[in-house]
Amino acid sequence: MPRLLSVLLWWSAICPNAFTQSDTALFVYRNLLRAYEKGTRQWDGRPGANYWQNRATYRMQVRLEPKKRRLSGQATIVYFNQSPDTLRLLRLKLAADRYRKGSLRDDDVNPDDVGEGVRIEALSLHGQVVAEKDRTRQRTFLDINMRQKPLLPGDSVLISVRWSYTLPSDKRATRECVCDPTTFFVPYWYPQVAVYDDVRGWASTPYSGQQEFYHDFSDYDVTITLPKGFMAWATGEWQNAADLLEPTYLERFQGAHRTDTVVRIFTEEELKRGGVFKKASRHVFRYRATQVPDFTFAASDHYNWDATSVIVDSTSGRRTFVSAAYNTASRDFYRVARIAANGIRLMSFWQPGYPFPYPCLTVFNGNDGMEYPMMVNDASVGNGDPTNLTVHEVAHTYFPFMMGINEQEYAWMDEGWASFFDLLLTDSLTGYKGNLRGYGFSAGNDSDVPPMVRSSFLRGRAYSIASYTRPQGAYMTLLDLLGYETFHHCMVEYMNRWKGKHPTPYDFFFTWNDAAGQNLNWFWKPWFFEWGYPDLGVHSVVGDANAERDLIVVERVGSLPIPIHLKITYTDKTSETVHLRADVWKNGDRLHSLPAAVGKGIARLELGDRLIPDTNRSNNSWKRN
Ligand SMILES: [Zn+2]
Repeated sequence: MPRLLSVLLWWSAICPNAFTQSDTALFVYRNLLRAYEKGTRQWDGRPGANYWQNRATYRMQVRLEPKKRRLSGQATIVYFNQSPDTLRLLRLKLAADRYRKGSLRDDDVNPDDVGEGVRIEALSLHGQVVAEKDRTRQRTFLDINMRQKPLLPGDSVLISVRWSYTLPSDKRATRECVCDPTTFFVPYWYPQVAVYDDVRGWASTPYSGQQEFYHDFSDYDVTITLPKGFMAWATGEWQNAADLLEPTYLERFQGAHRTDTVVRIFTEEELKRGGVFKKASRHVFRYRATQVPDFTFAASDHYNWDATSVIVDSTSGRRTFVSAAYNTASRDFYRVARIAANGIRLMSFWQPGYPFPYPCLTVFNGNDGMEYPMMVNDASVGNGDPTNLTVHEVAHTYFPFMMGINEQEYAWMDEGWASFFDLLLTDSLTGYKGNLRGYGFSAGNDSDVPPMVRSSFLRGRAYSIASYTRPQGAYMTLLDLLGYETFHHCMVEYMNRWKGKHPTPYDFFFTWNDAAGQNLNWFWKPWFFEWGYPDLGVHSVVGDANAERDLIVVERVGSLPIPIHLKITYTDKTSETVHLRADVWKNGDRLHSLPAAVGKGIARLELGDRLIPDTNRSNNSWKRN
């Protein structure tokens, strides 16, 4: 065989994206190619035979002193190196170091909250104290030098750490909520091992306020100590309810696990009266969760607690326990447990149409719109409807949590989906027909960058368009293009392949190409890799001399492909609607002609629909003069 031909055949075998899809092949970041060379990922979108990821187990005891806003904890962490690499450095994340004096921050914070950051009171590896010279604090990382005793492939390291810090006092703090003097939402609170992966090695994007999740899947066993009268809600299932709750309340708690009805487990009044918990000077709550990317908790001595449950898997009959914990003054949270449960039912059976993976979920009345595994921190929307915010945050359970998305770098792989789900789910739950996130003003401007630019490099408007708006439009267009059945098949295949792992954008694109049985690169390329915007316009109406009818010419003004949805009204007052999916633009045409009805004159044309992301509607109408 000629050498050149054999090289080409070899290349096509290992790299089908680059060879067989030559004209529409997706550009692959050069630093990601090594994942394919090492066989950790496959060109058809599957995890490779050599795929690996690291994990840990966390046993932690945390104590919160509400009066001082002081959190102190100790953890025993076993970190398993399942990579083929010898690790000479161990990276811990200290997110609360965002408040450390001199630390880099994306937004202003209350100067009173800036201080020493996280105080590390003790730190050892395998029982040996880590010397100061082997610790480096930079940004929100604590790097530990392990050159003396590297962590070998297949081996594990035992990390013992004791720490404390003060929660910020500012009610508008980015993620944390000191909602009132006795109500707290506490995320990002413990030293967590950073992700070491096959693509980049140690994740190096610090937490400066904007970046959200990228964590490995781990097991957690956590006790939370609070003064008497406080309740703790947390990631995982509550292990010792029977030890703490008086029988009446325990019965309500257990009953809510079996019913579709919303049960009031306790009210503020009942909590204040003092009969909810068994007598003790302090309470220790124990929560456990397995295979989750993070652990968060919340506490209050006066919040109401509603709960219900919902079947999420019709085969096994498995139920998810759904809670809302809220301030009596909130006007909207009385409805939130119901909304969250209804949303979870739709997520399990319709969009994304995959059984809700977690055994429980709590929506906490805090100060944000922010998701955590099994926990949500949502501000009240006052007299507004909390449906959209609730289902958005709950839908994040799939992306980034179940799917292990690197949201720090590819936020569109989770915020885009959450924005897609919240639109469809809210429509379905409220009957109100909502609109796509609008970006007409910014579309195609210099703040509308291709989503494939790493999210950690983006700020402000550019971050939100690339993470939420543009991918929401892309996914809506994809649903229309494939139809529900094929779309759902691709989604299920993507989830089956990558749940509990760390898919990259290419694992997403290639899996959907593979599962759909069609090369969608012509679609991925403009929507995710290129500058551009979606805009169709009515170009002209011309007579067709051979047939007694008009031809309508639609122009693709912006490069991003979207469907043609055209309402034609004739001079005889009859009308018809034509819908052509986005693949009419597959070959890159700029104009597309549609024949009108024979023997009829066109009076008016109207292009577009509320679910089609056409950013400039001024060219969508046409009227015969
Ligand atoms: Zn979101």
